[in-house]
Amino acid sequence: MRIGMVAPPGAGKGTQGALIAAHFNIPHICTGEILRDHVNRGTDTGRVVSDYLDRGELVPDEVLCDTIHQALSDVIAAGGDYVLDGMPRTMDQARAIHRVSSELGMAPDVVLHLKADDETVRQRMLARAAVEHRSDDTEPAIRRRLALYHQMTEPILAWYAFRGILVTVDATRTAAEVGREILAVLEVLRPVIRNVPEKMRRPVDLTMLTPAMAQGS
Ligand code: ADP
Repeated sequence: MRIGMVAPPGAGKGTQGALIAAHFNIPHICTGEILRDHVNRGTDTGRVVSDYLDRGELVPDEVLCDTIHQALSDVIAAGGDYVLDGMPRTMDQARAIHRVSSELGMAPDVVLHLKADDETVRQRMLARAAVEHRSDDTEPAIRRRLALYHQMTEPILAWYAFRGILVTVDATRTAAEVGREILAVLEVLRPVIRNVPEKMRRPVDLTMLTPAMAQGS
């Protein structure tokens, strides 16, 4: 399966991405991890992006290109399936991914939206800061990352919903609960998704079920 992910920082993309990759035995392309790895190794790319990461800014698209190039080769070598985590973050990136992946016959089958409110993810990132010491889990960088998410990334959701490939899950629950729901949905979709004509695909918002069912009971 080819799976994309859109989520605010701290919603659990990394955790769920790793779970999905292990379950389906597909590559997990995590742009944030790749960039942090460059910083840790002190590469030229690492030197360019380090300041952007610390401030919670988006790194320029030219820099991302290199990163993606390598990741794409890994994906092709692994048969074309993937779980993509951390990209797209802007409408431009979404259009670029759509163009390139469609040309290669590798457009995402499903895009998961891990939905979580700002306060929940802010608390998670501050808690993570105490353990992992990520340079961007500081109050000002978190504020900036959330602002950029709302301004630049969130509009992509409507675009994927319109294409009928968006699946929204409530990511404020425990990682195990979220993971169970994601794997269940993906396992159901997997055998059929590519047989559903594009025009007949519909977005699914699983977060709507909780209040709707509570009302009905
Ligand atoms: P989070 O989603 O929790 O902020 P990530 O590990 O996905 O964490 O990303 C960390 C940082 O890496 C971002 O704040 C940004 O600086 C950079 N980054 C990752 N992916 C992209 C991207 N697609 N475009 C621009 N910058 C990116």
